Amino acid sequence: MKQSPSFDWLKAVKSNLPLIVFLLLATGGMLTVYWFYSPPTAVSTEAIIAEADLEGGLWAPIYKDVAGPPVTQRLVQSPGPIHIGIISGHRGFDSGAVCADGLTEATVNAGIAEQVTAVLQAEGITVEILDEFDPKLDNYAATALLSIHADSCMYVNELATGFKIAGSSYTDSAALSVCLEQAYAASTNLPYHANTITADMTDYHAFREVAPGTQAAIIEVGFMWLDRDLLTTNTDPVVQGIVDGLHCFLNTATVRQAAMAGDDG
Ligand SMILES: [Zn+2]
Repeated sequence: MKQSPSFDWLKAVKSNLPLIVFLLLATGGMLTVYWFYSPPTAVSTEAIIAEADLEGGLWAPIYKDVAGPPVTQRLVQSPGPIHIGIISGHRGFDSGAVCADGLTEATVNAGIAEQVTAVLQAEGITVEILDEFDPKLDNYAATALLSIHADSCMYVNELATGFKIAGSSYTDSAALSVCLEQAYAASTNLPYHANTITADMTDYHAFREVAPGTQAAIIEVGFMWLDRDLLTTNTDPVVQGIVDGLHCFLNTATVRQAAMAGDDG
């Protein structure tokens, strides 16, 4: 028994003609829509990434309006989640500068960092001391980060006295560094040594590590030779200067927060 396959095809086409016509029309319609919305020239994935400036990954932020938190307290601002990180310079890494008699910069830094931390903690502020290369610094989010260092113990000349401060350039830290500079100068009467600020300070490693938005600064509290007494024995003005500077900064941040809350309604 022989059966021609062409007969089967023809029969199938005839009996399903409406369906076949519909499928052809649908295909044509979809191709038309696809053609209409396609870019005129073929665009490579690399070109799309380059144009969208996606920083090397196929992702993009999704912006969505989110309602602000409900304001429950109008008259007195409840304290925000203030959190301060203090790097005890060189801690956990090396000794830093060393004096002829063995006094190390790491010891000087630690003494000051611990006193500053104790004063702030006594006020109820959350403060933690970090190592120079603390693993926590990676994407560290805080109200402020301050690294405490001291300058060399070599006798250079009678001008080798004073302090310096550099703020992060990755997150605008002018508010923090200006507060610290003014308060520290007022409390210690030390001169400000802008002309000896080095790349070690302006491109300080922690500035690159902390989370964006965390204001960060590094202070060289004084020279270990001429300012030794102030840095080791009579440290109250040093500690007070740093505490005052942080207070000043926290006040400006609080003022800004309050102003923003007011703008919401
Ligand atoms: Zn140092």
